[in-house]
Amino acid sequence: IKEVVIIGAGLAGSEAAYQLAKRGIKVKLYEMRPLKNTEAHKSEKFGELVCSNSLGSNATSNASGLMKEELRQLGSLLVEVADKNRVPAGQALAVDREGFSKEITETLENMENIEIIREELTEIPEEGIVLIASGPLSSDSISEEIKKITKDEHLYFYDAAAPIIAFDSIDKEKVYFQSRYDKGDGEYINCPMNIEEYTNFYNALITAERAPLKTFEEEKLFEACMPVEKMAERGEKTLLFGPLKPKGLTNPRHPDIKDYAVIQLRQDDKEGRLYNMVGFQTNLKWGEQKRVFSMIPGLENADFVRYGVMHRNTFINSTKLLKDTLNLKSNENIYFAGQITGSEGYVAAMATGMMAAINIANRLEGKKEFVLDDRSAIGAIIKYITEEKKNFQPIGPNIGIIRPLEGKKIRDKRERYTKVAERALDYLKEKLGEE
Ligand code: FAD
Repeated sequence: IKEVVIIGAGLAGSEAAYQLAKRGIKVKLYEMRPLKNTEAHKSEKFGELVCSNSLGSNATSNASGLMKEELRQLGSLLVEVADKNRVPAGQALAVDREGFSKEITETLENMENIEIIREELTEIPEEGIVLIASGPLSSDSISEEIKKITKDEHLYFYDAAAPIIAFDSIDKEKVYFQSRYDKGDGEYINCPMNIEEYTNFYNALITAERAPLKTFEEEKLFEACMPVEKMAERGEKTLLFGPLKPKGLTNPRHPDIKDYAVIQLRQDDKEGRLYNMVGFQTNLKWGEQKRVFSMIPGLENADFVRYGVMHRNTFINSTKLLKDTLNLKSNENIYFAGQITGSEGYVAAMATGMMAAINIANRLEGKKEFVLDDRSAIGAIIKYITEEKKNFQPIGPNIGIIRPLEGKKIRDKRERYTKVAERALDYLKEKLGEE
């Protein structure tokens, strides 16, 4: 019988379930929520975005934008639903998180080939094909099982989420609406700071009390998700080149004087009632977040709808364990997709879910493997996570891992990336033609 068990209806598992069901394959989709929750999920819905509501740039000259376009070409459900639930965010594809996961849940619930089982799967089935997409917060029992089958090639590090604020509680007299370099429609809210305000804020931030971290077998901080207070520890000016950089912004109240620092807030829901603090992943205690972040001009009376948090992130050493079809070298019936493969971020989770599903379907139908090479953004990330390397760290969509163009180097970055994207989409079209 053509039946596949999927563990986890997150971003990877939901995309994979849809792709398999669409191809006439029966799916048993296990999701433990709401019976058992993770430390970050808030609802019982599928494809929940646990932190930012942005899926990154939509421009194909950017690796995340290119990956999304490749996913559109491959018929992704999640990117289609994201496009439908888009909220204004300049060049980024940000979504109304509620609408996004509601539509994914309803679509999967209404597919004949999908049986949804609201249960924590505590053991990996020994028979049949299994896709493990239990995410960075895989339950303890399934993590233990994964550990057994991967012979301890199973790693941990920490990830962090930024706070969300109610729009109504922001002092509009102190902030201004604008996108960096005027890209987009000026939808970000900017909270400007002068040098004195910044210095006071900085000192409060680095001395604020942090939440205790749980001890795990191995603790690793991931550079791209560094908590803001940790980044600040590197030096008083570090944040001014990171999330608080004033570059590309002009304060309409004093256009001739540059702000010393700017904190940006990004719209988080369709109605524009919620805004998240861009780059403000944090592990400060909640009371401390209220105290320190309320020092930011415009946020004096901010109503924090959700505080920032830090969490465990679980991933396997795919570079040793997985084939480029995303199944184990040691057991071809066990596939992995999503953050647990060491691919990083929402879009890469969708992409690995898509590629695992296509390969499972092809195998069940006796067709040949479907592997993309590193001319595409999807192929590049799968190649990166499945090729042997030392010190494997998770990686998100990244132009640096896509194969360089042949011939003389085009000096202009934007032009070069546009050409890389054109080549990727031509290549994908060709591959799809062969299918
Ligand atoms: P998930 O979307 O987490 O899906 C896994 C699912 O499996 C969950 O629904 C879970 O309930 C279920 N599950 C787990 N164990 C079992 C079991 N034993 N049985 C049944 N079901 C089970 N990426 C970004 O691009 N931007 C961000 O802002 C961002 N912020 C993040 C913040 C945090 C706190 C964390 C932890 C991660 C963040 N990520 C972010 C990284 C990553 O992209 C997301 O976690 C993404 O959701 C990963 O997709 P996934 O499908 O692998 O896992």
